[in-house]
Amino acid sequence: MSAPSPFVDHVQIYFTSGKGGDGIVAWRREKHVPRGGPDGGDGGRGGHIILEGDKQLWTLLDLRYRKFIKAEAGKNGEGGKRTGREGKDEVLKVPLGTTVTNAETGEFMGEITEHGQRLTILAGGFGGRGNWNFRTASNQVPEHATPGGYAQELVAILELKVLADVGLVGFPNAGKSTLLSVLSAAKPKIADYPFTTLVPNLGIVKYRDFKSYVMADIPGIIEGASEGRGLGITFLRHIERNSILLVMVAADSPDPIAEYKTLIHEMEAYSPELLDKKMLLAITKCDLLDSKAMKALEKKIKKSLPKQEMVTISSVANVGLEQLNDRIWEILQATEEDWE
Ligand code: GDP
Ligand code: MG
Repeated sequence: MSAPSPFVDHVQIYFTSGKGGDGIVAWRREKHVPRGGPDGGDGGRGGHIILEGDKQLWTLLDLRYRKFIKAEAGKNGEGGKRTGREGKDEVLKVPLGTTVTNAETGEFMGEITEHGQRLTILAGGFGGRGNWNFRTASNQVPEHATPGGYAQELVAILELKVLADVGLVGFPNAGKSTLLSVLSAAKPKIADYPFTTLVPNLGIVKYRDFKSYVMADIPGIIEGASEGRGLGITFLRHIERNSILLVMVAADSPDPIAEYKTLIHEMEAYSPELLDKKMLLAITKCDLLDSKAMKALEKKIKKSLPKQEMVTISSVANVGLEQLNDRIWEILQATEEDWE
């Protein structure tokens, strides 16, 4: 069986670049010369349509409601050999990993992989030439100028493989969906996974003011995953560079340590590389135990799993969530530096 493709976020947009400004016919005005030399300027070029990679973006959501995008036309030339102003380019910020395809021909047009990378997907019309440009030795009074180039049109599909930064791993009822709902600021809509109805629930978690990361709650990640039934772990294989697995075990689990070990075992059985990822253990629903019982549980876990970093949280009572968010952000930053 070939590996299933990752989840895909996609938008189709009708783009129009800017028409080029026309070159014009004009004549120099001089005091004693009834008709001076040619001085009609060139038209400005029309605006391009440009995609630009932005590592702060995670989805194509911003573009979802923009069905038509048009760049500005170039201005016509003016007398005095003045070139018309260029039409403003339409620069669209897109997340890294965005690919562009011509919707009509199916032609692959490119991929944005780096922050700041630019891809011109539709060029603006060229500026026309003014009559000043057409003067020659034999013709000092050229009577013509050329019009600006046409605007161009393109229907393009932008697609993004959705890669999460934090994958939630836990048995049903561990509190995954609840955590995602309290932490996330937005829920991107993701196209259905082609082979199943199992769609990960993705949330964008805001960190401080301007930063964010993607958290994925993958239904059924564990049940039978290592036998290939669940698709959750397959999805996790697509999680690239900056990624953390948040292993979630409820405080009221009959045996939290055994539950943790089962989760690790399931992941390892499916794909040992998963264990190379940074893992953070979250003891959830800590509001269900009194503080004494909670302390005892933490102590017990620390003793059995001395190497496993742990946080305790309650999504319902809002305990430890800010610390969790801080810690996730720190780890994401650290993994990013490792890559640089
Ligand atoms: P999932 O199956 O891992 O997605 O778990 P859910 O998020 O659906 O939560 C399972 C149950 O636990 C639900 O009834 C939640 O209301 C409850 N729950 C989730 N988080 C907490 C928590 O922090 N404290 C308490 N007391 N209950 C919680
Ligand atoms: Mg759930």
